Amino acid sequence: MPAPHLAMTAARTAIIMRLSASKATWQGLGLALIGILFFAFAQKYDAFEAVIRFADTHEAYELDEILLAIVIIGILSIVYGILRIWDLRTERRHRQMAERQVDWMALHDQLTGLKNRHSLDRTLAAYDRKASAKRSFSLLVIDLDGFKRINDLNGHHAGDLVLQVVAERLREQVPDTNIFRLGGDEFLVIVDTPSMAAPVARALLQSLNQPVPYQGVSLDIGASIGLATWPDNGGKAVDCLRDADAAMYAAKAAGRGVLRAFDKEMAERLRARGLAERNLRHAIAYDGIKPFYQPIIDLHSGKVCGFEALARWYLEDGTAILPLEFIPLAEESGLIMELTDRLLRQACEEAGHWPKDITLSFNISPVQLQDKLLGLRILRILMETGFDPRRLEIEITETALINDIQTAATILSELRTAGISVALDDFGTGYSSLAQLSNFSFDKIKIDRSFVASFKDQERQEKIVKAIVGLGIGLDVPTTAEGIETSDQLASLAGMGCTYGQGYLFGRALPADEVRRLLEQESETSLRNTIAVSAQA
Ligand code: C2E
Ligand code: MG
Ligand code: MG
Repeated sequence: MPAPHLAMTAARTAIIMRLSASKATWQGLGLALIGILFFAFAQKYDAFEAVIRFADTHEAYELDEILLAIVIIGILSIVYGILRIWDLRTERRHRQMAERQVDWMALHDQLTGLKNRHSLDRTLAAYDRKASAKRSFSLLVIDLDGFKRINDLNGHHAGDLVLQVVAERLREQVPDTNIFRLGGDEFLVIVDTPSMAAPVARALLQSLNQPVPYQGVSLDIGASIGLATWPDNGGKAVDCLRDADAAMYAAKAAGRGVLRAFDKEMAERLRARGLAERNLRHAIAYDGIKPFYQPIIDLHSGKVCGFEALARWYLEDGTAILPLEFIPLAEESGLIMELTDRLLRQACEEAGHWPKDITLSFNISPVQLQDKLLGLRILRILMETGFDPRRLEIEITETALINDIQTAATILSELRTAGISVALDDFGTGYSSLAQLSNFSFDKIKIDRSFVASFKDQERQEKIVKAIVGLGIGLDVPTTAEGIETSDQLASLAGMGCTYGQGYLFGRALPADEVRRLLEQESETSLRNTIAVSAQA
């Protein structure tokens, strides 16, 4: 159960217990009052003597035996009541213990015993409530270096051990109550005296940089630390966490084992990024980003056989922002799913009007191949737009296949089973292109334009392109050359046996209405050619 849920369950149990305790008190008080009233009434009218007299005069009713039985039942009921109260108290003690345990679990990390993120949120919110007390503190966000590698190479046991050792090392320097595990390999330390924050951080770096012994080997580990102080930069205590996070990312970018303090420059970058993210969110929501389409030519027939959708973001003043600027931002801010869904839907709707033999190629970001639902999302869009899966080709780069091979493989096989083709984009630019070709099945290889751009001038590049085309022929996988700009390049590529071509020589990415015009022109030309050929015959 997630921590917030556990906390809510514990709180709810506590409320119910408190309510039932107060109900029992009221019932007890009510009964005592009724008893006192009865007693006073009986005293006043000598009720007991009257009953005795009545029993004496009516011996035949055996009232004395009945009275004796009532007295015995009364005494036994009192004993029974006392025993039940005893049981209740024991049960309540157990419940309170369980409640305390649930409370602890809700606020702590099971593996290291440190407080968790939920607990930190509470602590920071409490600081904010006491803002008038002008307390100040520093936050150290600590991210381990090389943790993923340890997990991948030595297994999760080793990873767990490293996290426990790290927790112990943190406890050696800082009181337990000020240490939190934020999740994964990220920890946070609150330093109550800001002037001590940097020395504490440096001591932590030194201790965390020591290798961790594990089954006779030593695991190489390190840490990067981001520091921010509250209320130095104004804002709420929770904003300080965001600042310390930003400082930690700056530390990570600077290399292993680095400490970085949040500064004005980072604040400015953070502000600009926040603004860019808001603009991007707005552009996605209002369809400000549209797919344009670059023609792909069959080098054998010289005809357009498909289009690659390339995202274009046109601002109100007419300036265009290219994908390399906003796709990384969309990936980092988690907006890429929404952007892809909208672009793919639009592209499928528009491509649905093209002739049936014209295909649509669509780029998928590497991060998306870690989303297990990607296949389903794509298929749902195809179903809703009625676009034939056999006309869709998904382009992925090899980085997509490195991060989480298993998930990527599952998604690719789902797509291919549904009839969608998969192309390996930018082939040759990564460091394991050949490994990817042997591990996965692709329907197309796209030779990166960096090879095509220079191969006419450099003999080596030409040989590489020739080899890639040969590889495609050998594997029976068609190749597309990207970035063809001159007819010389075209002639050489066609001569090598490259299947398809794409580049400014044939055309740049066009908006949907221009694509329609181009396709109409093309069908008219081929109609004219067919008529001319049959007239000659
Ligand atoms: P890519 O998939 O390799 O796309 C080809 C890029 O080369 C495009 O750049 C295209 O405009 C450019 N190009 C095509 N022919 C030529 C040429 O003859 N000369 C030169 N110099 N360039 C040419 P663009 O549109 O800027 O896209 C860059 C990259 O952004 C794409 O590389 C693709 O990886 C990514 N991208 C584009 N649209 C999307 C999208 O909708 N989703 C995702 N996830 N990525 C996209
Ligand atoms: Mg592409
Ligand atoms: Mg490419």
